[in-house]
Amino acid sequence: MGVYGIDLGTTNSAIARIDADGRPEVMVGINGEPTVPSVVLFASAFDHLVGEGARRQSRLDPEHVCALVKRRMGEADWRFTAHGESWSAPAVSALILKSLAADVEFGGGEPVRRAVITVPAYFGDEERRATIQSGAYAGFDVAGVLSEPIAAALSYGFGRLDGTVDVGKPGERETVLVYDLGGGTFDATVIELADRRISVLAVEGDHQLGGADWDERIALYLSQQFCAANPDAEDPLDDSAGSQMLVLAAEQAKRELSEVDRTDVVVAHDGARAVVSLTRAEVESLTASLMRRTIELTRDCLTAAGKRGVASVDRLLLVGGSSRMPMVERELNKELGLRGELRDPDLSVARGAALYGEKLEMERLILADLVTRGRLRDGSALREAAPADLEQSVARVAASFGQPVALVRRMLEIQVDTVVSRGFGVLALDNHYGLAAAWLVHRNQTLPVRVRRSFGTVREDQDQIELTIVEQQGQAASVRPEDTKVLVEGRIRGIPPGYPAGSEVRVTFEMGFDGVLHVTAHHVDADMPLTLSAQTGATLSQADVARELDQVQRSRRRAG
Ligand code: AMP
Repeated sequence: MGVYGIDLGTTNSAIARIDADGRPEVMVGINGEPTVPSVVLFASAFDHLVGEGARRQSRLDPEHVCALVKRRMGEADWRFTAHGESWSAPAVSALILKSLAADVEFGGGEPVRRAVITVPAYFGDEERRATIQSGAYAGFDVAGVLSEPIAAALSYGFGRLDGTVDVGKPGERETVLVYDLGGGTFDATVIELADRRISVLAVEGDHQLGGADWDERIALYLSQQFCAANPDAEDPLDDSAGSQMLVLAAEQAKRELSEVDRTDVVVAHDGARAVVSLTRAEVESLTASLMRRTIELTRDCLTAAGKRGVASVDRLLLVGGSSRMPMVERELNKELGLRGELRDPDLSVARGAALYGEKLEMERLILADLVTRGRLRDGSALREAAPADLEQSVARVAASFGQPVALVRRMLEIQVDTVVSRGFGVLALDNHYGLAAAWLVHRNQTLPVRVRRSFGTVREDQDQIELTIVEQQGQAASVRPEDTKVLVEGRIRGIPPGYPAGSEVRVTFEMGFDGVLHVTAHHVDADMPLTLSAQTGATLSQADVARELDQVQRSRRRAG
């Protein structure tokens, strides 16, 4: 049974799997399109509609339509309320995931049980947990969360590693800058392909920057032109249906202007009408500051990669639907001297997620095979296997899946390395600053990370220690507590009695490839693990989770 790869996008989502030939294939939904708008219409308290139908309805029924929910992931208090029910961001996202899964089954695919879901590279711990939660609400076993640029690079690099330029060969390497401008988010990432390894060297991004911002600027312009032509009519932006309509018209015009130089937009509102003529050059000048911001972030990313020894990049990969705007290629070329390559900007992330899912699945099956045959102890890692055993197991697994041995071997061989998107640390008393952030994990550090820090008890027989774990907020790691985001306010409990002041409690921060932080504590003298009871703003109680799960399961999906 395969693992599906899901691009849970801000504006559009897609689902892919590996086909019989070992190639990633994006599944086509009920509407015949490979991508589905990430928009949910709450039609009543009992049913909802996901996708293009919901997007179109947003004009008529804006209060019940939830779009851009991904921007809310990790915001513990955010709720979308419709028909007297409130929905958290993971719960709304779960409806999108369920809809993708239903489409797959409708198209005759195997039911979606395990999935890899992609997230922007700079998503922090809470956003990643929220994404995993949405998968759980949708009834999936989330095999992993994968950063979108890595997914794009994997989709690209997998072909490269297989292709004429074998960057898998020792000594050959290629650095790739992935510029990903989607509907609501922007990511710049520098990746290196070498020795069958895909490594992320630096990431930069903005959670609140994407095609939707272009739409807003254009909508504002359309409303100004409409109001100038109809001074007595109400401003469409003062009305929620009017603004939804304007934003949709703006988005449509923006897409057209990627192909042609000029288009006319009809704005009808409050009994009045205006035909606004828009040129590509006008839109480019209205949105120049947005474009500039992506260039600045891209430069920052290149600088960070430079510190890790990357003097120049060999290729520029353009992903995300908004990369289709001609200004993107042109400005990147002008400012950075790089020629961009646009390859299936909407689908490469889902494909890469499917490849990664397949890799995880193959690793899991081979490990299970070796353990069952007594060639590896339970709990061992694959790298501990003897090469001959591994080779035989690869052949068995390939045969049982009817796939070429070389493909399964390559899936195992390709390594993916990534970096931490934000710093993580603790708030501790400092002689100079008073309460200050001490950073244990730094941005752009290679994952996985395992860092230890020791704390001393301050009095004899002390039985607990307070601990505040924080995440970096801005671009730079600041020591000021107000510049950090509190992730966990924890208490290390169970410190045994009979130890003096200053006895050592070692706190370990571990972050796996998925970028989710795990904190453990250990009493050094007593050599015993301590429990960390954590309170976070974002932690839902078990009762909340059960209620939301029930809410997601109960809401019926309307076709349309
Ligand atoms: P994504 O989140 O990667 O699916 O990207 C969706 C974003 O790409 C939306 O903001 C779309 O308006 C934008 N987009 C898609 N196609 C085009 C196009 N041809 N020209 C400009 N923007 C586009």
